[in-house]
Amino acid sequence: MTTTTRILIVEDEPDIVFSLREDLHRQGYETSVSRDGDDAIRRGTAERWDLILLDVMLPGASGFDVCAAIRRAGVRTPIIMLTARTREDDKEHGLDAGADDYVTKPFSLRELRARIRAQLRREERAPERTLTFGECELDVDRAELRRAGAPVDLTAQEFRILQVFVRRAGHVLSREQLIDAAWGPGMAITDRAVDTHVFNLRRKIEADPADPRVILSVRGLGYRFEA
Ligand code: CA
Repeated sequence: MTTTTRILIVEDEPDIVFSLREDLHRQGYETSVSRDGDDAIRRGTAERWDLILLDVMLPGASGFDVCAAIRRAGVRTPIIMLTARTREDDKEHGLDAGADDYVTKPFSLRELRARIRAQLRREERAPERTLTFGECELDVDRAELRRAGAPVDLTAQEFRILQVFVRRAGHVLSREQLIDAAWGPGMAITDRAVDTHVFNLRRKIEADPADPRVILSVRGLGYRFEA
């Protein structure tokens, strides 16, 4: 059975909307358009999308705020930011808000198509949606963690780190690899900040955080997740 890939276009400039829609339809995608930030937050969290294209400069909430709000709601749909700016900190800001990728305007449709395909492929490769380890059960789609049946509160960042661990279970991950995967390549996150997040995660998922059995420390190398 094939299902249509649904893309939400969040963009207020009619010309760009027009060319994006036309091109994406030609690629066989189904699209819907949201023209302001507040509407995008509503639709991005309430409806199910395969991918979201998100402009930064919008009426209402900015693209960064939209992205952060969608992630806070636990939605992990791939988000590609469309930014008119080229400043490095805007790119960081976007990735920090939880975007998966970004393209700088003016972008070529061909480049954007490639970025879209890359994000959709990544989603297809994603492992099973419910994962169990120790006494925990992680529902990846809903960003929900239960421990012995009781819901556990995770921050968005803790959830992302946990996802990385789960996907690479059994492998040693350096702090740098964790930063690349959970924050975004080249993000200025200190090793100490990574350790703090891991410390907090352990308190939430380990039976005895002082004697971790799920997230193990590998001296001099990093961490290893044991499912
Ligand atoms: Ca705009």
